[in-house]
Parts: sequence; C-alpha cells; structure tokens
Amino acid sequence: MDIIVLKPDAKESHLKHIIKKLEGWGLKANVSKGTERTIIGVIGDTSKITEEEEDSVRAMEGVENVMRILRPYKLASREFKKTDTHINVRGTRIGGKKICVIAGPCAVENKRTLMSIAEKVKKAGASFIRGGAFKPRTSPYSFQGLGEEGLKYLAEARERTGLPVVTELMDPRDLEVVQKYADIIQVGARNMQNFRLLLEIGLSDKPVILKRGLSATIKEWLMAAEYIMSRGNHKVILCERGIRTFETATRNTLDLSAVPVLKQLTHLPVIVDPSHGVGKWNLVSPMAKAAVAAGADGLLIEVHTKPEEALSDGEQSLKPDAFEQLMSELQPIAKAVGREI
Ligand code: PEP
Ligand code: MN
Repeated sequence: MDIIVLKPDAKESHLKHIIKKLEGWGLKANVSKGTERTIIGVIGDTSKITEEEEDSVRAMEGVENVMRILRPYKLASREFKKTDTHINVRGTRIGGKKICVIAGPCAVENKRTLMSIAEKVKKAGASFIRGGAFKPRTSPYSFQGLGEEGLKYLAEARERTGLPVVTELMDPRDLEVVQKYADIIQVGARNMQNFRLLLEIGLSDKPVILKRGLSATIKEWLMAAEYIMSRGNHKVILCERGIRTFETATRNTLDLSAVPVLKQLTHLPVIVDPSHGVGKWNLVSPMAKAAVAAGADGLLIEVHTKPEEALSDGEQSLKPDAFEQLMSELQPIAKAVGREI
C-alpha cells in the first residue's frame, strides 16, 4: 500500500483516523490536498503491511481506493493514473488531441518587441506566449532579465492577444510575484533538481512546465515531478529540451525517444522544446516536426522579430515568417498521427 485516495467528500476526521492508523504501524502520511481530491502518500516500509491490514484501510470511512505502486515515482506514474492528464489553462487544454504551441522570445527585452512578437505568434496560431523575466544565464555579466517589469509586459501581451503566459521561476522568493502574472510557471533545466523550489511550487495552484535537467535521466526527471505533485500540485507538464552528450554539432542532443518512453511511464502531458534542443534556428523546424510525429502534446519554440539583436538565444530563435511556415507544415504531420494543431 503506497497511495490512499480519499473520496471527494471525505472529512477531516476521516483523514485523521487514517493517519493515526498508519502511525500505529510506524508509517508516516504525506497528505497531498489537490483541487479535486486528497491523496495520502504512505512513507516508510510499506512492504510489511499485510493484505488484511491493507483491506482494513480500504474499509475505512472516507477511503476511495488503496494502491500499491512499484515505481519510485508514484503520483506521476501510469500505474497511479491510467488516463492521460489534461491541463486546462484559461480555456486552452494541454494534453488533449490538439497540440499546444508555446512561442515567444527567450527573454522579455522591452515592451515593444514583446508586443510585436506576441501579435505575430498569435496570428501564426500559437496558443501561449512565453518569455523569461528571470533568466538563468551562464555568465553573471549577461542580461539577467527585467524581473517584475518583464512580467508586467507579459501580462499586457496577454491582454492584447488573449494568449496565456508562460514564464520561468528560478527562486522560491519570487514565487509570489511570478504567479501574480503567469498562467504557467516554467522550471528551467538548471533547476530541475532544486528541491526547495519544487516543493514551493507544489503548494501553488498554477500549472508547471518542468524542463528536463541538462544531464537528468528520465527517472530523475519523474522524481522531480513527484516532488511537485507530492505537495498537492498535480498540474505538471514535462518538457524535453535536450541533454548533454559528447556531440557538439548541436547545442544539446534532443532526446525524442523520451516522448514515447514518458507516454508509457506517466500520465502527465509531454512537450518538446526543439529550440534549446538544437541551438540553431535552421534545425528547429525539422525537430519540431519530428517531436509531433513522436507523440508530443505540445511544442515550446523561441521566436524573435530580430534574432540578430536578441539579448539571449538569438541564434536559435525563429523569425515570425519561419514560425508561421512551420505552423502550417506541422498540420499534415499532426493529422497523420491523429492529432490537430
Ligand atoms: C528557456 O526556456 O529560455 C531556458 C532557459 O530553457 P532551459 O532551462 O531549458 O535551458
Ligand atoms: Mn532561451
């Protein structure tokens, strides 16, 4: 017994009784109160619990189901939830038949450029605007982002285009300000195992895009998702963005096999970021198409009106025309794999 799912109408007193019972067996309870229901993760050596003891928990008031899950990640696993998770963001669904496209600059640089990019990606059919206001830069001397000013511009772009906003959170101290403006919080590759950050986001009700760490295995990545989910936030979207290998022809090696692997292991939506995966604008479109063919639920693509003047990642950013062309070329590929875009 690893997970106890409570009935939607379970009472606080039912929860208390269950926790007491677990504690009597020397186990602890990790209570995850989601928007729909409460789930208890059982912590400790659960292999000692007999079938009779498990049945006695199943019979308790407020209990809907008791499950044994073999994988180390539990809430994220397919064993825990068989059906694909769909996440609704301001009326747009991530994880359904329709492939969602998140597009925009690497960083929010100024209001005018952002508005112009937002209008162009909207026209081309994107369903989210992205842009970093807090940037994880390799050099402390590089542009670090506009902070709250950038978040305000993103909110203005949303007002103007209707596109919900995706933006990165790097530090738990900025959670409050970021969630004031963002519709989806992005956890960048460099922070995939920043466990304190993951735990804080786990208490937020905002959907989260969890990018794969630069050298993270799929198991480590799913364990990071579990950190967020174990705190009650089950709205996690996994984003493959390339991993470090010996290959230098591309910025990273985009691991597209992660898409079908994840589809087997987890119910969470999976999106692909070919921009950071390859690092060169003219390789982005072929890999975006391959991602859709591989079964990705969405794409994250960097777009800039003047990539040559961009303050970060200009070399991998598509110009609006190339983005528009990609969007139309994706249509038959999506259709061929039973999706739409
Ligand atoms: C980004 O999305 O701009 C970014 C910094 O991505 P990653 O964390 O994948 O490098
Ligand atoms: Mn970038």
